[in-house]
Parts: sequence; structure tokens; C-alpha cells
Amino acid sequence: MIQPDIKYMKLAIEAAVQSAKNGDYGHGAVIIKDGEVIATGYETLKSANDPVNGHAEIDAIRKACQKLGQPYLQDCIMYCTAEPCPMCMSAIIWAKMSDVAYAITRDDMIAEMERIKQSSGGKFSWRQIAIPAEYIVEHGEPKVALHPGFMREESRMLFDLTGK
Ligand SMILES: [Zn+2]
Repeated sequence: MIQPDIKYMKLAIEAAVQSAKNGDYGHGAVIIKDGEVIATGYETLKSANDPVNGHAEIDAIRKACQKLGQPYLQDCIMYCTAEPCPMCMSAIIWAKMSDVAYAITRDDMIAEMERIKQSSGGKFSWRQIAIPAEYIVEHGEPKVALHPGFMREESRMLFDLTGK
């Protein structure tokens, strides 16, 4: 269990801003090991027509594994701007990562969903699958430490960048 560091979440937020500028969802992720940035993940769901690898967390995991030349990311920390979906949270567990710090929570996304759908003309909705990251962690191994709501307020502007 680590103490999350603001400087790494700032990098994840930068990646999210870049993703939104590219016309995609405002999500971003970075993977840190021993204080070093191993990979930066961008959202490419819309731009690459890829609902699987297009999630920022999956993008970061794939890049980190390629860079380290291994299928697991033990002792690595994921910083992502929003609570990982069930697919990404499962991938984080499959990769044996130690910690996940995330900013915007699933409840925040549910609260903003309709507003974003309206303002983007239906192109973006921040749709959710009703399984919290915590539930996946409880039912998986190894146990990943979650740090929810880290820099949540600083990340809320990503709702407004998406689809702009
Ligand atoms: Zn995901």
C-alpha cells in the first residue's frame, strides 16, 4: 500500500486532456514503478474504433508490459483519472499490479452521464457497467490496493472536455 503522489496523477490528467483533444473520452492513465513512469495510456476508443484496447488503462498496461518485456506488472502503480471499469480492473488484477489511484468515481460518472450525453449530442455518455472496482478486487487475487477519489476535484473538468 503506497501513498499516492500528486505529480503522477497530474500526468494522468494530462493524458486525459490529450485524449479529449484527440476527440475521445477524457480518460488517462500512467503506470509507475520505483518512481519511474513506465507507460502513459490514452483513450482511443473513438479514434481507433476499439472498445477494448481503447481504454486508457488497457493502453497503459499493454505499453508497460511491452516495455518491461514481461506479462506481469508487480510493484507497479496505476494512476487513472476515473474508476476503472470491470474490464480494466480485471486487467489490472491479471497484471498483478499493487495499487490503483483513481480520481473520478463511478458515482460521479453516473451523476454526470445524462448531462454529457445531452451536451455531446449523444456521442459521449460515460456509460457504466454496474460493478464497482472494489467488488472486482474483493473477488480477485492478488489483492490490489485502491485509492479512490485521489485528486477528484482537480479531475472533474474532464467531464466538460469530453466531446468538445
Ligand atoms: Zn475500462
